[in-house]
Amino acid sequence: MNPPCARCGKIVYPTEKVNCLDKYWHKGCFHCEVCKMTLNMKNYKGYEKKPYCSAHYPKTSFTIVADTPENLRLKQQSELQSQVKPHPHAAL
Ligand SMILES: [Zn+2]
Ligand SMILES: [Zn+2]
Repeated sequence: MNPPCARCGKIVYPTEKVNCLDKYWHKGCFHCEVCKMTLNMKNYKGYEKKPYCSAHYPKTSFTIVADTPENLRLKQQSELQSQVKPHPHAAL
C-alpha cells in the first residue's frame, strides 16, 4: 500500500517518496511552509511535524519568550489595567 502525501493528500509512490517527520511526502511537496522552497533530507528543519528551510524555521526562543508564566502574567496584568471596570476584583 502506498501512503497519501502529507501535503497534497495524493498517493505517494516509492520513486517520489520522502519519508520525514513521521509522514510521507512527494519530493516536490516537501517544501518550506513559508517560502515553498523545495527541501530535502539534508537541509530541512522540522517543527511541529512540518518542514521549514533554515531561514523560516520558527526560532524556539520566540516561543519561550512569549509563553513563560511571567510573561503571561505581565500581559494579563497590563490588559486588566487597561480596562476600566466598576468591580475590578469580580473576575478573580
Ligand atoms: Zn504531494
Ligand atoms: Zn522558507
